[in-house]
Amino acid sequence: MSSRRGLVDRTLRFSTVDGPGNRFVVFMQGCNFNCIGCHNPYTISECNSCGLCVDPCPENALSLDEDHRVVVDRVACTGCEVCIDVCPYDSTPLAEDLDVDELVARIRETAPFLSGVTVSGGEATLQAHFVAELFGRLRADDELSHLTTLVDSNGSAPREVWDLLMPVMDGAMIDLKALDPDTHVRLTGRTNTAVLDSIRYLAAAGKLHEVRLLIVPGYNDDPATMERTLAWLRDVDPDMAIKVIGFRVHGIRPEMSWLTDADPDRIADLADLATSAGFRDVIVV
Ligand code: SF4
Ligand code: SF4
Repeated sequence: MSSRRGLVDRTLRFSTVDGPGNRFVVFMQGCNFNCIGCHNPYTISECNSCGLCVDPCPENALSLDEDHRVVVDRVACTGCEVCIDVCPYDSTPLAEDLDVDELVARIRETAPFLSGVTVSGGEATLQAHFVAELFGRLRADDELSHLTTLVDSNGSAPREVWDLLMPVMDGAMIDLKALDPDTHVRLTGRTNTAVLDSIRYLAAAGKLHEVRLLIVPGYNDDPATMERTLAWLRDVDPDMAIKVIGFRVHGIRPEMSWLTDADPDRIADLADLATSAGFRDVIVV
């Protein structure tokens, strides 16, 4: 039986910042949020083969085939990302249509040196069946079953998706951009009803690896907002792990350059609030 296919933005053979230990990371292409401070906006949309990036490629590595689909000469491509810079649709021609077999083969190459696999994005849960098949294959393979399986998610998935993933997933890392629904809409373009429900549902199932609080100056960096957020999280699970992340402008869309870096002292103060609220596992990034 052929394995399921997924649209993968890129893979990383080793990462120490996408979960515990040394991890293979799969970045899926496609996201249902449109965050004002997105650091990877080219992962939001699927390429529509408009062709606008073909001529600007300095290596002539891009072309349109007879079906008018953009194709990449991966030998000629140097990874300069000019194509990503010129794309007006928050996309990339470099995403790969991979099947689970191909991805498992890549993971196997470095598996002895890995602690686990993290699927990120984009939004990984939009291709949940692909992720579930990948994780299931890892668990069933004697050489790969030592790898922990984590999903890095914006939390928008409904319970049915978590039900699909939970039997083969060790945990999920969920971004909570704002507890206040209006602020969440301003930051992401979507309300947070599903995000809050995902945090509750995963915590109750013992599958909430971590909640990530991205602190964006002017949106969610005042102490009162942080205290309300921490009170809500403590009601869900006072033992959950919290990661407090200071926003950085580097890498965001040029038109969003009016945003500012979070002040490290303010981030440290907000993290102290988490510790004072009783959370024992608080990391600041
Ligand atoms: S990556 Fe962007 S510019 Fe290039 S063909 Fe796809 S949609 Fe068009
Ligand atoms: S990254 Fe894009 S623009 Fe640069 S060489 Fe590769 S295909 Fe061409």
